[in-house]
Amino acid sequence: MEILAAARANVHLISHPLVQHKLTLMRKKEASTNSFRRLLNELSSLMAYEVCRDMPLQDIEIETPLETMTAKVIDGKKLVFASVLRAGNGILDGVLSVVPGARVGHIGLYRDPKTLQAVEYYYKMPSDMQSRDVVVVDPMLATGNSAAAAVARLKESQPRSIKFLCLLTCPEGINTMYAEHPDVPIYTAAIDRELNDHGYILPGLGDAGDRIFGTQ
Ligand code: URA
Repeated sequence: MEILAAARANVHLISHPLVQHKLTLMRKKEASTNSFRRLLNELSSLMAYEVCRDMPLQDIEIETPLETMTAKVIDGKKLVFASVLRAGNGILDGVLSVVPGARVGHIGLYRDPKTLQAVEYYYKMPSDMQSRDVVVVDPMLATGNSAAAAVARLKESQPRSIKFLCLLTCPEGINTMYAEHPDVPIYTAAIDRELNDHGYILPGLGDAGDRIFGTQ
C-alpha cells in the first residue's frame, strides 16, 4: 500500500541514531523481556524529547546564586499521556522520566480478531481535559483502527491538542489515522513495509504487549 502524500506529511519520523539503534535491538527476536522493556524505556524517553519540542513555555522569576532572572519552564501538568492498554503502558515510564509532572490516562480497547475493529472496555482520563495537551501512546500503529477509535473517544473531552506517539507504524496505519484524524500528528521511529493478514506489522517486532510483559 502507498502512503498518501498528505498523510506522510503528518508523520514525524524520529531518525536520531540513538533511537534507530535501540529500535533495532528491540526488533531482534532473541531480545529478552528484560532488555526489551529497558530499551523501550530508553527509547520512549528519547522520543518524548521530539514530542515535547513545541510545548508551550512560560516565564517565571527565579533567583540564581548571583541574581534574579526571568526563566522559562513548561507546565508539565498540562500534558496527559494517554496509554492505549496494555502495550501503551510500556511507554509510560520512559516519557514520565522526562515529564514527571504529566498526568496519565488509560484507554482499554481490544481488537476483534475477526473484524480487526476496536472495542472499548476501559476509559479513564484526568479532569479538565479542555486545558490539556494529550499524547496518545501505543508502541504499534498497525491497522490504525484502535488508534483512530482511541483518538475519537478522546476528542469527546475536547483536549487542547492531540498527538500520537508510537515506535513503529506502516502505510495502513498512517493512512487510516490521516483519513479519520488529519489533525493528529504521528511521531514514530520507523515506517515498516506492510501488515500481514493478522494485522501484524512486517518486519515489525512481534507482539509488543507480549514482549513487554513476557506473556508469550
Ligand atoms: N500489535 C503488535 O503488538 N504488533 C504488531 O505488529 C501489530 C499490532
